Amino acid sequence: MKPAPFEYLCPRTLDDALALLAERGEDGKVLAGGQSLMPLLSLRLARPSAVIDVNRVPGLDRMFTTRDGGLSIGALARQRSLERNAGLAHEQPLLAAAIPLIGHFQIRNRGTVGGSLVHADPAAELPAVMTCLGADFILSSKSGERAVSADDFYLGYMATVVEPNEILTEIRLPPWRGRRIWAIEEVSRRKGDFAMVGVTLWMELDDSDACKEARITMFGVSGKPVRVDKAEQRMAGAKLDDDAFKEVEKIVTDELEPDSDIHASARYRKEVGGVLARRALIQARTRLIEGNL
Ligand SMILES: Cc1cc2nc3c(=O)[nH]c(=O)nc-3n(C[C@H](O)[C@H](O)[C@H](O)COP(=O)(O)OP(=O)(O)OC[C@H]3O[C@@H](n4cnc5c(N)ncnc54)[C@H](O)[C@@H]3O)c2cc1C
Repeated sequence: MKPAPFEYLCPRTLDDALALLAERGEDGKVLAGGQSLMPLLSLRLARPSAVIDVNRVPGLDRMFTTRDGGLSIGALARQRSLERNAGLAHEQPLLAAAIPLIGHFQIRNRGTVGGSLVHADPAAELPAVMTCLGADFILSSKSGERAVSADDFYLGYMATVVEPNEILTEIRLPPWRGRRIWAIEEVSRRKGDFAMVGVTLWMELDDSDACKEARITMFGVSGKPVRVDKAEQRMAGAKLDDDAFKEVEKIVTDELEPDSDIHASARYRKEVGGVLARRALIQARTRLIEGNL
């Protein structure tokens, strides 16, 4: 199908883009990499009267290390540019590991970090990884900026707190500090497909190699990324042994309340979610054993 007619607008500054969005309200749609928006337009699932292409707004794709050692990522940064950033594996290893799992390289060439976060597909890797990493999202509008934590950003299935007059301009990641081990695991039908179930986690270790703090986030199991608080609490202060990992598997299986859809049943997602969480813990522990922190 062809998209319904729309006006194509191409602002050259952020102020102009924000003014256009304020003017158009619900009728305006931001175009970033187009990897999700273009299919939605072609299928006429989205019928905005105006598409506001922000690709020519300078500076929106900037990425730099902040003074405190965190990372600032411009929303328009292409997924592929992160993948090709040699320093990222050192600076934010979990994020670096997640990027190649997104679709195929042709999609990552155009797809942006911000586009994936705002599109908010519950099976997407980046919303879960940003939640796991404790990122803040900067939303800009004509009246200024506000920061929203990833925990508060997602409301439900493809729904976020972004208002029609706002653009996601920046993602701020806290520094990757301390002795951390991490993992990301997912099950998808084919390589490059969205995950049917996925988990991403990190653990900070104390001097005796016990877990000081853990963050465990599931994706593909609900309308939005799910942090499994009880599993995080179970690991806090725990030794990295098989008994603890098995308990986490059970907690995750019990805690998840997924839906069934054409890709997988709710029961499958619960069972596989628990197994993946345990596998991810083992994968993370392997990094410690191999001295790969
Ligand atoms: C075949 C295929 C396979 C894929 N597989 C995966 C996968 O395995 N995992 C995965 O995570 N993703 C996958 N994707 C999706 C891909 O990651 C998209 O790039 C991403 O979802 C959207 O990013 P985009 O820059 O293309 O955004 P667009 O398509 O341009 O926009 C998406 C939505 O976000 C809004 N938007 C975009 N940027 C902003 C902004 N800065 N501020 C406010 N609103 C904004 C748009 O208005 C639109 O509603 C796949 C896509 C395809 C086509």
